[in-house]
Amino acid sequence: MPTSAPEPVLQVEGLSAGYGKIGVLKSVNLVVRPGEIVALLGPNGAGKSTLLKSISGLLPWSGAMRFAGRDMAGAQPRDCVEAGLVHVVEGHRVFTQLTVEDNVLLAGYGMPAAQRRVQVEEALDFFPEIKAKRRDKAATLSGGQQQMLAVAQGLVRKPKLLMLDEPSAGLSPVLVDRVLAAASQLRAAGTAVLLVEQLIEKSLAVADRAYAMVRGTVVLEAVASEPDLPERLERIYFGLDSQ
Ligand code: ATP
Repeated sequence: MPTSAPEPVLQVEGLSAGYGKIGVLKSVNLVVRPGEIVALLGPNGAGKSTLLKSISGLLPWSGAMRFAGRDMAGAQPRDCVEAGLVHVVEGHRVFTQLTVEDNVLLAGYGMPAAQRRVQVEEALDFFPEIKAKRRDKAATLSGGQQQMLAVAQGLVRKPKLLMLDEPSAGLSPVLVDRVLAAASQLRAAGTAVLLVEQLIEKSLAVADRAYAMVRGTVVLEAVASEPDLPERLERIYFGLDSQ
């Protein structure tokens, strides 16, 4: 008997959303399976951040969405977090006047104290370089380290799916590699990652699959290792593909 693909952790079907009367997303379909890194690519203004905001309950949407076996219709951001869906928003800022450890503890607000302590340690274990600075104020961290701290905050609740919106923004290439390496570590630990990025090559190097969006619509879905994918994406970015 053929083995079937695992049940998706996230399944979005015919999702449409926007800002008030401004329609942005048009009937988007997207699937993320457990322990998979999925890159969501596309030119500026394509609607990638809007899709993440819709999935995490920050924007109202129509269509259908299931997450970890639940129907997410009408779910608020808090419901999404409780279900195991964490969104590290673009340009996420940490509390620079708090210590590294307090920033991570804060992200576990409301969790039972003992469990929170354990999971804070586990989140910090992903990033030895910021763990070593746990008692220092976050203001003393470099930009890349603050980005790692933002990801560590997202990990405290042990999400089933972590959505990262442009974690590389403003970082040097070396730091980008380190932040993306964390996504691979997460996959190894069984967490699925939905990664919005402008850096196509680096994203494809860590991703299992990729989607590309243009003007609010998914125009491509592919396995990240497909040899002609960078070229197909380039055509999409430069508007050479007819849609
Ligand atoms: P980028 O890589 O530039 O962030 P993106 O693919 O994430 O691009 P979105 O930020 O989702 O794109 O934007 C999609 C569209 O929605 C754009 O036309 C943008 O101008 C519009 N938009 C984004 N935020 C708002 C808002 N708060 N109010 C109205 N329109 C918005």
